[in-house]
Amino acid sequence: MGGGPGGALRSLRELNRGLVVDALRRRGAASRAELARATGLSRATVSTLTSELIKEGLVLEREAESEPSDRAPAKAGRPPVLLALDPRAGTVLGIDFGHSHVRVAVSDLSSRVLAEHHAVVDVDRSAAKALDAAAEMASAVLAEAGVPADGVFGCGVGIPGPIDQRTGTVGSSPILPGWTGLPAAAELADRLGLEVDVDNDATLGALGEATHGAARGVQDVIYVKLATGIGAGLLLGGRLHRGASGIAGEIGHVLYDPNGKLCRCGSRGCLETAAGAPAIAALLQEAYGGELSTTDVVRLADEGDVGAARLVRDAGRAVGRVLADMVNVLNPELIVLGGELAAVGAPLREGVTESLERYALPAAATAVRVELGVLGDRAEVLGALSLVTHGHSGRAPAPSPLHAAPAQVFSTSPIIR
Ligand SMILES: [Zn+2]
Repeated sequence: MGGGPGGALRSLRELNRGLVVDALRRRGAASRAELARATGLSRATVSTLTSELIKEGLVLEREAESEPSDRAPAKAGRPPVLLALDPRAGTVLGIDFGHSHVRVAVSDLSSRVLAEHHAVVDVDRSAAKALDAAAEMASAVLAEAGVPADGVFGCGVGIPGPIDQRTGTVGSSPILPGWTGLPAAAELADRLGLEVDVDNDATLGALGEATHGAARGVQDVIYVKLATGIGAGLLLGGRLHRGASGIAGEIGHVLYDPNGKLCRCGSRGCLETAAGAPAIAALLQEAYGGELSTTDVVRLADEGDVGAARLVRDAGRAVGRVLADMVNVLNPELIVLGGELAAVGAPLREGVTESLERYALPAAATAVRVELGVLGDRAEVLGALSLVTHGHSGRAPAPSPLHAAPAQVFSTSPIIR
């Protein structure tokens, strides 16, 4: 592989190459003409870029086996040459930190997951321990997948707090106290010896569902992660929206009840205090006794326990009450419910829908579908992988839903047109 993974990664991130790689990833295989149409780039540019990609071993060339009807026939019956990503060219790492878990996955460039580990870790309390645990898990998944460390292009990371994309640090002390001001990307880069991109976990959940799941092809999406914390990832006009300092989507700390419980952020009555998984578990414990976790709540509701299902439906109503205002402001086409609690399914979705119907403008409420995520609690880690495979330097000239551009610019390479 020419230039080594570091060089190749920089190249991957260069905008137009990213567009070509993205188009190939989504289509599986495509002719040069199809790539030009899909990316909005000229045929000459596509030709130059694909030659480079082939030379570097990232892309394979092969003849089409048969002539699909939707492809323009090539001259004199010659089958068109198709290009595809070489899945063996390299791998990427994805790490998802929840408030109480770490999940690590390694995939090839076509997003096929080769190995994945999950562990319960108290992420909130000690950033250093959580980062060490993630680094150990990363070595373990790479070993399991048989991937040498120098065969990894880069690592995408989700953290359950606001990430200031201008500095790559975790902002807002009350939301993730043990991590405040931490240059998370640099800390992990040191531990892994890789280039690392960090983003908010719910933002990556939105990216995961948009790449592989319920939100494919949808331009205006609110993804809601319902777990220990509550957060939203926003895909607006086909681009991820993070806000000026990474706070966008922090719906867990929107006021729900002025007389409610004190929140870990220092406010009173935040949505999380009413609808976060610990709040539901605490209410269930009051009635049933014993110590109950989020997993217990999900299991009980799943088994048809009326009390557990009622509490989850009530939590859905509370989330829907806050989403109703967002629906009025943003007018999304789709709300995807994700995170551990979404595994409960129907009661949660019904609760959300009830509140939307009641509190959102009818025109906005009827325009939005509410669906359960299809990736479950893997949406964030799959989004973390997509963060690397898609690259995200600068802004896409021809917006595609997945070329969601963050504020920071990684590469100063000129954009080839
Ligand atoms: Zn709060």
